[in-house]
Amino acid sequence: MTNPEILAMFKSSGALLDGHFRLTSGRHSNSYFQCAKVLQYPEHLTAICSEIAAHFMSSGITTVISPAIGGIVVGTEVGRQLAVRTIFAERKEGTMMIRRGFSIDPSEQVLVVEDVITTGGSVAEVIELVRATGANVAGVASVVDRSNGKVLLADQQFSLLMMEVVSYAPEECPLCKEGIPIDAPGSRSNPQA
Ligand SMILES: [Zn+2]
Repeated sequence: MTNPEILAMFKSSGALLDGHFRLTSGRHSNSYFQCAKVLQYPEHLTAICSEIAAHFMSSGITTVISPAIGGIVVGTEVGRQLAVRTIFAERKEGTMMIRRGFSIDPSEQVLVVEDVITTGGSVAEVIELVRATGANVAGVASVVDRSNGKVLLADQQFSLLMMEVVSYAPEECPLCKEGIPIDAPGSRSNPQA
């Protein structure tokens, strides 16, 4: 898929909207983004994950791991297409952990899959968990990189879409200054920024 094709998929599913929004951080932005809205459609999920799976097809991946919750849908579909098992890590009292009886063998090649990388915090924690087992982190993949390539987590890192977050403190927001009303999706839902 080309970048315009991917963007069209995000826009047609309402995952990416142009306007004036309040982000969960309280900052204002000219774009609303919610990755889960594109992934709810099986044809989009399959197409997006096939790009990731194709990228890591010859990397000898034996296990896919994702941080809960956002990464699980993408991780599971990537794992299915690579025909390898998929597990997830989750936070318990703030600490990222591998639970539910999941284990990783030291001989494994592990792919870490996330939906959206913004600061990369959750992925970095999952990488540490994988390395602590003795296994190799063979790559990191995400659907969207909101750091626009600034956050580097692994030698082999692949994102379908690079998209920088443009946001403003409310008192400095140019859209507020123009008197443009804040759109509903950003205040009702949970945009990622
Ligand atoms: Zn504003």
